[in-house]
Amino acid sequence: MTDSERTRSADVRFADLVANPEPLTGLLVTRGPVAWRPVVTISAMHLGALAALIPSTFSWGAAAMFPLFWWIASGLGMYLGYHRLITHRSFKTSKFIERSLATFGVLNMTSGPVSWAGIHRLHHAESDGDHDPHSPRHGLAWSHILWGIHGRSDGRRRRAITRDLAKDPYFLWLERWYLLPQSVLAVLLFGAGYWATGTAMGALGYVIWGVCVRTVFGWHTVWSVKSAAHAWGYRNFHTDDESRNNWWVALLTFGEGWHNNHHAQQRSAAHGMRWWEFDPTWWTILLLERVGLAHSVVRPKLDRLDPHRGRRRSSGAQAEHEGPEGIDSP
Ligand SMILES: [Zn+2]
Ligand SMILES: [Zn+2]
Repeated sequence: MTDSERTRSADVRFADLVANPEPLTGLLVTRGPVAWRPVVTISAMHLGALAALIPSTFSWGAAAMFPLFWWIASGLGMYLGYHRLITHRSFKTSKFIERSLATFGVLNMTSGPVSWAGIHRLHHAESDGDHDPHSPRHGLAWSHILWGIHGRSDGRRRRAITRDLAKDPYFLWLERWYLLPQSVLAVLLFGAGYWATGTAMGALGYVIWGVCVRTVFGWHTVWSVKSAAHAWGYRNFHTDDESRNNWWVALLTFGEGWHNNHHAQQRSAAHGMRWWEFDPTWWTILLLERVGLAHSVVRPKLDRLDPHRGRRRSSGAQAEHEGPEGIDSP
């Protein structure tokens, strides 16, 4: 059975696959032994986030670090920087802004920008096929978290599709030192917290909310794009995969949850394409363009949306067929 026969099926069939996942048999990504480094990192960060329950660490100033650095690390770093700018080249900007956004992106402690773009380009090239690094077809938990803990690949193809990015020495430096910005931030937050509260526990609260709670929340929300936005939601386009537009994922990811739109028009700087599909990352790009900091912004092809189809769930024949655009190779 070919990839397309196996995966290009009706919603019901895919739901069955999520409930009873297929064994992972891909050649590029295989299920290996547990990698202890991500397990320790993820566990430690979750424990750190739980420390927010200790009353003596709480202050409103500390709690405010959570939305502030969630916006900086996830909103600007991950979604605007890693995804729409660096991976898909949806717009152009100065080297300074690009590198700044990449630096914000590493605050998520997922990986450096080149590795992240490589895995994501692989995901677009192989969406919900055997070689997709994180498809719910191989289990919802696999697509959400397990692929990052015991997925294995030799990395050759990932490196081949990110040669354009590997030319930037700063990106390569971030690949190597991607934990450093988060560590520096933790020290700065501790200092700011001590200055604001006058106690070590109060200072710790700034680190707990600005680093631990924010990172854990950022992880699970970006992972929801890989899991939930390939399992639940509606489709505007009949793409050759199981991507979905999912409103609650979009709400938690600055607009990234309009994932079926994104799979259909991968280079579009806008992921929200209907009036209710709010997309703060797109609004940010428009703002940058307005003030002259972004140019060559790739617009969505809204004429390909059928105004009468709205929020209907895909059943194949009803949805517009949209051949996915190729991965951009700038
Ligand atoms: Zn996807
Ligand atoms: Zn993408």
